[in-house]
Amino acid sequence: MSGSEQENLVKSAKSLDFIRKRIVEDLNSGKNGGRVETRFPPEPNGYLHIGHAKSMNLNSGVAAEFNGACHLRFDDTNPEKEEVEYIHAIQEDVKWLGFDWGQHLYYAADYIEQFFQYAVELIRRGLAYVDHLSPEQIREYRGTLTSPGQDSPYRQRSVEENLDLFERMRQGDFREGECVLRAKIDMAAPNIAMRDPAIFRIKHAPHHRTGDKWCIYPMYDFAHSLSDAIESITHSLCTLEFEDRRPLYDWVLDNVSSPCHPQQIEFARLDLTYTVLSKRKLLQLVKEGIVSGWDDPRMPTLSGLRRRGYTPAAIRNFCSAIGVDKTNSVIEIGMLEYYLREDLNKTSPRVMAVLRPLKVIIDNYPETQVEEFEAENSPEDPAAGTRKIPFSRVVYIEQEDFSENPPKGYFRLSPGREVRLKHAYYLTCNRAVKDERTGEITELHCTYDPESRGGGTPDGRRVKGTLHWVSAEQAVTAEVRLYDHLFSQANPNAVPDGQDFRSALNPNSLVTLRHCRVEPGLAQASPGSRYQFLRHGYFCVDPDSSPGQPVFNRTVGLRDTWAKLQKKG
Ligand code: ATP
Ligand code: MG
Repeated sequence: MSGSEQENLVKSAKSLDFIRKRIVEDLNSGKNGGRVETRFPPEPNGYLHIGHAKSMNLNSGVAAEFNGACHLRFDDTNPEKEEVEYIHAIQEDVKWLGFDWGQHLYYAADYIEQFFQYAVELIRRGLAYVDHLSPEQIREYRGTLTSPGQDSPYRQRSVEENLDLFERMRQGDFREGECVLRAKIDMAAPNIAMRDPAIFRIKHAPHHRTGDKWCIYPMYDFAHSLSDAIESITHSLCTLEFEDRRPLYDWVLDNVSSPCHPQQIEFARLDLTYTVLSKRKLLQLVKEGIVSGWDDPRMPTLSGLRRRGYTPAAIRNFCSAIGVDKTNSVIEIGMLEYYLREDLNKTSPRVMAVLRPLKVIIDNYPETQVEEFEAENSPEDPAAGTRKIPFSRVVYIEQEDFSENPPKGYFRLSPGREVRLKHAYYLTCNRAVKDERTGEITELHCTYDPESRGGGTPDGRRVKGTLHWVSAEQAVTAEVRLYDHLFSQANPNAVPDGQDFRSALNPNSLVTLRHCRVEPGLAQASPGSRYQFLRHGYFCVDPDSSPGQPVFNRTVGLRDTWAKLQKKG
């Protein structure tokens, strides 16, 4: 890096977050030879969620800003919980979000031989021992936050004995839990993480990558610090709960002939209202069938958000806006939705869809006539072009757009009232037909003003309401899934004692409407395409669609001005 480049970095450091400031300091002091290398290390035991997006956005963003690289590393040294399905899903989600690991795709499991050799090195230095205490005894001997731990009777084994036992652990001579390799640090350390933590344990389980080669697997802290060092990571960014384990991260690297010593820096994890982000809880929702799968559009997983209609840009913009911090806090989900609307507003074509149809017969419109209206796909962007929408004697409007006894401030259709049909004509309601038995309104009889074509009249008469509509004969029947937050309590992680997070589930998080009518142009809409349904919000075509039978997911509503008015009134 040139001197002026460094100066610029120093200047801009004033407005940087604490992680970027630290990186700038390191660059200025010549650490790591001016290199910045980060990693995103998911454990393949579940799908990625919006919290992981925060981590990726940070790691990948930092690497890009400082001309470095960001590795994607599978933290896959626990053979039991990990599945190949997750490895594929994670890569797909990372790519979708727009992060490119380039040549830097790694698997911690590929380093097990090196971890083994580093462990041997610790044994040779008298800094690790094979412990034959049972798991329960190890727990007892560990002590508590207020009392020191106790040395294991096996702590003084000789180097030779430890080397022999560790090799026999590798050979499969012992049962699971019979013994474990521990770092020899300090059983009286105030930080419990430093009380001779286990670094290799026995697991007679095949691994997706190494097969039956290993029956011992490294523990997280040991594998993680060494993986970072093996990959020459410069800054190892992780969430705050690892702060207490940083001394162990450093101890490992200080006590083996490690190629380098990355700097661990902790930041606050993302937490969102009305959402759980624990993989354990998300897995439970999937396993118990509370949601339809990891990609259920109500899930905070990237695959769920994608299916719901989120754009990668909306998620990245949100992650950048929340920034990074040193204290945990809960972000309003409304903020995520703000960035979502902001992006969708720019990119989604407008269409008309009637979710709860009410038939309107225009008595003075010629019976067999069909007209076409030209409608712009985006009122803000002429380049988005136009489309043709048919109009005929029978149209559907929204049930809630008619009121027999309109309350004050209601400007939509009611008996004797005139409104505008968007892109088409002025329409006056003459009478409502009711089902004799139920009293339900089944259709409206209206008349239109032929002079109001396109939305105005020669006499300049004004109407207050503009309704969306579809032409009955040409419209396509669609299923629409109205999603809401999966939880009805703002903090589902803090439900009252004796209940679990499932008691906070929102029973109305999915409402399915099967008789919606949409513009004919949407008959073949391809899964993943996004639209703004006028006056309703943003919708995305679900993969459950088939040609002529589209299924739409509500991504997010528009802010409902009527609901706001009602609240005020
Ligand atoms: P869990 O403990 O719920 O299973 P995890 O944090 O262990 O999740 P990993 O797959 O290990 O999940 O996470 C990969 C990376 O993503 C880690 O660096 C982790 O710190 C980061 N990460 C996970 N959850 C969040 C979150 N909510 N906010 C920010 N970063 C996160
Ligand atoms: Mg983890």
